[in-house]
Amino acid sequence: MPYEKAHALTIRSSDFSETSRIIVFYTREYGRLATLAKGVKRKYSRMIGQVDLFSYGEIVFASGRRRDRLHVLTEACAFETFLEIRTDLARLYAACHAADLISSMTAEEDPNPDLFDQVLRLLRRLEGGVGPGISLFAFEARLLALTGFMPQVAGCVVCGRDSRARAVAFSPRLGGPVCEECSPGEADLVEDVPSGVLALLGRLAADKLTRLDRVTVAAPVARQVRSFLNQYESYVLGRELRAAKHL
Ligand SMILES: [Zn+2]
Repeated sequence: MPYEKAHALTIRSSDFSETSRIIVFYTREYGRLATLAKGVKRKYSRMIGQVDLFSYGEIVFASGRRRDRLHVLTEACAFETFLEIRTDLARLYAACHAADLISSMTAEEDPNPDLFDQVLRLLRRLEGGVGPGISLFAFEARLLALTGFMPQVAGCVVCGRDSRARAVAFSPRLGGPVCEECSPGEADLVEDVPSGVLALLGRLAADKLTRLDRVTVAAPVARQVRSFLNQYESYVLGRELRAAKHL
């Protein structure tokens, strides 16, 4: 059985049997990967403390030959465990939200090193004491861009005209703003999305704001960005995200 090595972040974990767990990693080399961690719940398992949620480290796994067979985790060594994030609910929910987005918006075993680096960067910022705010928004915008779900942020998605209005109607179905003339008849519009919110997400998605620590977002704007992202992400995924309502 071939053994593979990967840089991995633990993004999900669930019980499999009395002694084993299924651990889902987001890896730099292979993308999202589900593994069976045999014996991980035993008292003297070498993997204790190495594969906790959000841990970043190196894993070795025996790859399942057939597509439907789980990989078997054979070794894990954590470099960073991000324990500080757990001491603060706001940062914990932000990390949970990021893990949930990665779980549900990436395809299995479809590597994206840039996205891997983005989530690691977010965890490091949260661990360093930075509140979610702009760091989480930047991660979400990059995630949407890298997975192909980033909507159009300016100009009507139907006729292409630019609106000078401060707020626009947004169609999640069409993936962009819709002007007043094109909006009648269009169902499921998100009304009154501030143009500034879309512009900010557009800049973050294009990675144009490199010094995030220098960007301040006023609290009312942050609430608008959050509300828009929650609505758009749940439309894309067809379900509510668990941590979204706590953000
Ligand atoms: Zn239009």
